[in-house]
Amino acid sequence: MERLDLFMARANAAYYATHDPFADFTTAPEITQVFGELLGAWAAVQWQAMGQPDPVVLVEAGPGRGTLMADALRAAALMPGFRAALQVHLIETSPRLRIIQAAAVPGAVWHDTLDSVPAGPILLLANEFLDALPIRQFVQRGDAWTERHVQDGTLVELPLGEGSSRVGTAGPESLHLTLSHEQKKEPGDGLVFEVNEAALAFVGAVAQRICVHGGAALFVDYGPARSAPGDSLQALRHGKPASPLDAPGEADLTAHVDFEALAVTARAAGAAVYGPRAQGLFLAGLGLFQRTGRLAERQPAAKAAALIQAAQRLAEPDRMGRLFQALVIQHRSLPPPPGYA
Ligand code: SAH
Repeated sequence: MERLDLFMARANAAYYATHDPFADFTTAPEITQVFGELLGAWAAVQWQAMGQPDPVVLVEAGPGRGTLMADALRAAALMPGFRAALQVHLIETSPRLRIIQAAAVPGAVWHDTLDSVPAGPILLLANEFLDALPIRQFVQRGDAWTERHVQDGTLVELPLGEGSSRVGTAGPESLHLTLSHEQKKEPGDGLVFEVNEAALAFVGAVAQRICVHGGAALFVDYGPARSAPGDSLQALRHGKPASPLDAPGEADLTAHVDFEALAVTARAAGAAVYGPRAQGLFLAGLGLFQRTGRLAERQPAAKAAALIQAAQRLAEPDRMGRLFQALVIQHRSLPPPPGYA
């Protein structure tokens, strides 16, 4: 018997250590180079607003194949002084992916967690990182709460201890954060509430660093803008939806990101929060279609059409444009970030 988050952490660590995740799913930086370039330009503008600190730490969490960072650095080189001021740090636990990242991002320094990233002004990028972190699931049963565990491939609910049974009074601290006032007033039987403690801790630590040393962070991921109950745990195996509990380590496990809870955490730490804003609007605001158009002009017709289709895939509301959201956390002294006009 294992608590769901511990099961998910173990399963994903095994999966990312042994599989090529990009055989199972694709991500925005793998769809078009323009995604990483826009994020690099975003970082460059933020660096200027910060007063051009030199050195400045540029961190990416969960860099996958290193594509986003490689594209971002190419764009960063266009701003005088920025590329030279950058120290690139990658947070990645998979030894297998670190090897691939090393080829794409020469000179980077790797970390298992944020803790060992050097102190100082920071710019942080993360795409589809938080959704891979382990969630806990609590179920409302009448006046009481249970927590989901995994035993032999099935879900088991265990009661939470006495005193933690009344939400709004003494439920788990992390659970309070995800419950809006309406939900607290009208509890429903059997509703599932998810809490991503690892994501909350990560974003909280980033916000604290930003408050002390200055900087900005951009999190792009999928999930609703407002906290809502529901079971969002899902698995992709061999590129197809699968049961999350079968064959741990053989499938990629993800859950929706609770942006509202993350925003509350970052504000509580003293940082300014912008968004979440739908990815389509955010990227369009950064110049997705202008940049794609300029790039396409110099390409043969087939390549040009592919670039434009890729941009549409990221931006259109019924594709990746609305489900994916961009959340910015930054020092309170900075002006509104690019993409939030
Ligand atoms: N950002 C990339 C990859 C997304 S896949 C892209 O957009 O293509 C998730 C990434 O997070 C992988 O690199 C995976 O190895 C990494 N990862 C997952 N859990 C992690 C953890 N707990 N700590 C650090 N990295 C993690």
